[in-house]
Amino acid sequence: MIRPVLIALLAALAASASANAEDAKQASSPVAETDAVRTERVFDAASIKVAESLRDAALAGSGAFAIVESLTTEVGARMAGSDADARAVQWAKARFARLGFDRVILQPVTFRTWQRRSESAQVLPPFAQTLHVTALGGSVGSGGDVSAEVVEFSDLAALRAAPAGSVTGKIAFIAHRMQRFRDGRGYGLAVAARSEGASDASRAGAAALLIRSIGTDSHRFPHTGTMRYADGVKPIPAAALSNPDADQLSRLLALGKPVHVRLNLDVGVAGSYTSFNVIGEIVGRERPQEFVVIGGHLDSWDLGTGAIDDGAGVAITMEAGARIAALATRPRRSIRVIAFANEEQGLFGAKQYAQANRVGDHVIGAESDFGAGRIYALRAKVGEGSWSLLEQIGAVLAPLEIVLEAGAGGAGPDISPLVAEGMPWAQLAQDGSDYFDYHHTADDTLDKIDPKALDQQVAAYAAFAWLAADVAGDFGRLPLPTPTPPAK
Ligand code: ZN
Ligand code: ZN
Repeated sequence: MIRPVLIALLAALAASASANAEDAKQASSPVAETDAVRTERVFDAASIKVAESLRDAALAGSGAFAIVESLTTEVGARMAGSDADARAVQWAKARFARLGFDRVILQPVTFRTWQRRSESAQVLPPFAQTLHVTALGGSVGSGGDVSAEVVEFSDLAALRAAPAGSVTGKIAFIAHRMQRFRDGRGYGLAVAARSEGASDASRAGAAALLIRSIGTDSHRFPHTGTMRYADGVKPIPAAALSNPDADQLSRLLALGKPVHVRLNLDVGVAGSYTSFNVIGEIVGRERPQEFVVIGGHLDSWDLGTGAIDDGAGVAITMEAGARIAALATRPRRSIRVIAFANEEQGLFGAKQYAQANRVGDHVIGAESDFGAGRIYALRAKVGEGSWSLLEQIGAVLAPLEIVLEAGAGGAGPDISPLVAEGMPWAQLAQDGSDYFDYHHTADDTLDKIDPKALDQQVAAYAAFAWLAADVAGDFGRLPLPTPTPPAK
């Protein structure tokens, strides 16, 4: 889900949006709207009625829970490049067909594979004890045991401030704790320790990196997640401690005596693999070559069964699409429900989709990749003059206790490559208060999902996708991010 690349993208979009506001200010006279343009920005009464009935029927009970139950039970964990990845693709292909989609498309996506074979950590005497640890995705192996003294840093900035060579041969430990928020913004503030910390530790001379898990729970489940090495740094092994284990290590260090840890990670990159984006399509009745995109990612990490990340998102959007596919009438445009390949290790499926399709044919996208909590807000970024469409969609979603919020939110990770090329986005913002208690852990399992919460989300996605695909007008285009001038 939220990644540094996305944050950079949002910053670029915000910068270009303000540049656009400048352009608008400079325009001397507003362009007169024709009646035809105004009419295109109003939904047909019949179309609204269809959306309302989709909403109410899904809220009364949907098949979304059965879908995520099937995926997480019959396939289970499905790390990109594993045998289970292939089974998940076959599962999705069969499920789309069974749910009555008009077409099912498999789009190949090739990436390097990373494997986790074993991982362990122990504090050495005089404090000998086991630590609960998991390797970060993409980490190199430790090549046997790495045993070294631990040096604690309060956060990534403190590690970055460490003089070069000051932790030579030691294990750097970043103790920063992620904060809990409904919108999950604590993740964006904390995740760089995971994604970039190993590079900074390596620059400071460290033999390995340990981080406190990027998670809000206090259970003994470490959180994995992807990381990468900056160009030119020596790759060192990197792993996350569960929150209670990070607390324990900090307490040991606070005793004031040297603390040594032995880390053993048998993990690493092992060749390449071709998976697939699995796309269920509902073919539009008037403009079949224009698309509304919804979806989630089919891959998961290997520790849990990928129920909330992102089996839920796949199930919600599949079920929403299936309900539209079951109608007697097709919407004006096509709808694509995309189960993206390998989101977790670097948005591989998302990038491939944007590269292999004409982005200009995609009128708007919305993605479900933030767990299984209820939707509380509709947010969006659309082209100039199209916001009134969102107000009308917001009115249809209001009975679901969803509030329209202007000027907030962000596009999901898997649609971000399309958004970067100008596709408008909507965000059906979920309550993520407990998402990071389970995210990327062995504890991400089906029992964390409330079937009624899924029904509310299916209701919202079905109404949204129908309306977006059926409106006569469109959502315009987003201004392209202006490239940042090189620093002087
Ligand atoms: Zn994830
Ligand atoms: Zn995800």
